[in-house]
Amino acid sequence: MTEDADSETFRAALIAGDMDALRLIPKSDLHNHIVAGGTPDLLPGASAGYLEHKLRSMDEMHAWVDGHYGKFLSSAEGRFEAIHATFTSAKRDGVTLLAGGEDIWAPTAFDMTAETLTDTLKRIHRAAAPDLEWLPQLDMSRHCPVEALNAWLIPFLELGFYRTMDLSGDEFAQPIEAFRPLYREAKAQGLRLKAHVGEWGDADSVWRAVEELELDEVQHGIAAAQSPAVMRFLTDHRVRLNICPTSNVMLGRVDSMTEHPIRNLFEAGVIVTVNTDDMLVFGQSVSAEFLNLFRAGCLDAFALDEIRRNGLVSS
Ligand SMILES: [Zn+2]
Repeated sequence: MTEDADSETFRAALIAGDMDALRLIPKSDLHNHIVAGGTPDLLPGASAGYLEHKLRSMDEMHAWVDGHYGKFLSSAEGRFEAIHATFTSAKRDGVTLLAGGEDIWAPTAFDMTAETLTDTLKRIHRAAAPDLEWLPQLDMSRHCPVEALNAWLIPFLELGFYRTMDLSGDEFAQPIEAFRPLYREAKAQGLRLKAHVGEWGDADSVWRAVEELELDEVQHGIAAAQSPAVMRFLTDHRVRLNICPTSNVMLGRVDSMTEHPIRNLFEAGVIVTVNTDDMLVFGQSVSAEFLNLFRAGCLDAFALDEIRRNGLVSS
């Protein structure tokens, strides 16, 4: 892929360790759980700081979020304030393309319709970061019964507004095949399809999810680096992996930033991007993550610039 007008400046900013310059360069965040995607300083009513020690499981992660932000994020008002903080944080970091959305159970939990919830998100986007391109996303939790997910999903799909769909939560809650009907419905509506796999699961789980759900993108998918065959499959099918380096280190999926498998994936030709996951927890912006990978010696400035541009290619 050819360089863009910002490539040279981006590489120089990495080498100089210049965060202010990095923030001025266009970049994407395609893996951002927007209810936990802002920085704590923007949430004075809730601010409880970042995660400071490594965790060993998603249960520990959910317990940490509950303990620190659970009360705040249990109301619709708190969640909307948190989403506002996410758009503001992204703008501050120079993110020009952000994918994300609420979980589809939210209208039921907060006594709203899919339409009123969506209108609120549109208002927040316009108020906080109107110049940032937002790819509105439908998020589903993997532990929810498929019949419930289907009932929640339909009114959102009928709006014709959403661009992407994602599945997250415990990777082992239900077999991936269970979600195939939901993904077929979303595909029929033209949505770009994603799911969280290969963070806790193995390389084969990534391959199986891409085939079963016809995924365009995988959230994390780092386990694919364990298998040359799976990496070849992802490369051949141009499936993009949206990777969150600090999240992987803090949740013990990767030993260190230096040894992060994004390097092997990139060198094998897999299309990868760098993203934040949950900035409220991990505290690293997209610009910071690029610098983290560079300083750790994981990838050089040319590779990181190509990865930056991978995220800006329109789908
Ligand atoms: Zn995630």
